[in-house]
Parts: sequence; structure tokens; C-alpha cells
Amino acid sequence: MAGEPQPDCLFCKIVSGEIPATIVRETETTVAFRDINPQAPTHVLVIPRVHHPDAAALAAAEPAIAADILREAGQVAADEKIVDTGYRVVFNTGAGAGQTVFHAHAHVLGGRGLQWPPG
Ligand code: C5P
Repeated sequence: MAGEPQPDCLFCKIVSGEIPATIVRETETTVAFRDINPQAPTHVLVIPRVHHPDAAALAAAEPAIAADILREAGQVAADEKIVDTGYRVVFNTGAGAGQTVFHAHAHVLGGRGLQWPPG
């Protein structure tokens, strides 16, 4: 069923605690943790506890939780003190765009200059 934990999903296992992560924030609906392979001084992933394969699927099925992800991304940026210097919130969607984990997640990146357009 949509939203149910998937046995082979890495991020479902982080939500359940089966796989460790450096968690920085948690809410009833979301978990935020440091990316294991950081691409910037701040690189935090914000994920929903429920499983949906990407951000669009999450927003279609559970729009309130999609909004929670955006709010938490902003809160992570505030906690990390990267608001004034600017930060980026990225949802890689599809393998062609670099998505490797098919559980919706926002990358929050900052703490260095960021190029536009991204590669
Ligand atoms: O957008 P994409 O699907 O590529 O993002 C997945 C992210 O999950 C990667 O940046 C990767 O470094 C991160 N990751 C992690 N902890 C793991 C496995 C992957 O932070 N155990």
C-alpha cells in the first residue's frame, strides 16, 4: 500500500532505526539526518517517515507531509546558520537526475558558494 514501509528501502530502515544515521531533527512525520557523502559543509537530507518513491508522489498522496518536508528544510537551514549566506533545497527525481534512493527526500545544501545551473 502507498506509504507503507518497503523492506528493501534504505531510508525506511533509517526511519525504523535499523540503519544508523546522524539525525539532526525529527518530527512526527519527518526525519532529518546528515548525508553520508556530503557535497557541501551542510548537507542534510529531510525525509518523510512514510514511503513514497519521490517528492511528486509524496505531494500527490500526502500533501501535508510534503509541506512538512519544506518547513523542516527551512528549519534545518536556520539551525545550521546558512540562511543568510543562502542554501539550496534539491529533490533529485529519476535516475537520470541522479536519484539513487527511491524514498522521497530533500537535500539541504549550504555553507559554501553554490553554482547555477547545477551540473
Ligand atoms: O538524490 P539521491 O537519491 O542521489 O540522494 C541519496 C543520498 O543519500 C545521497 O546523497 C547519499 O550520499 C545519501 N545516503 C546517506 N546515507 C546512506 C545512503 C545514502 O546519506 N546510508
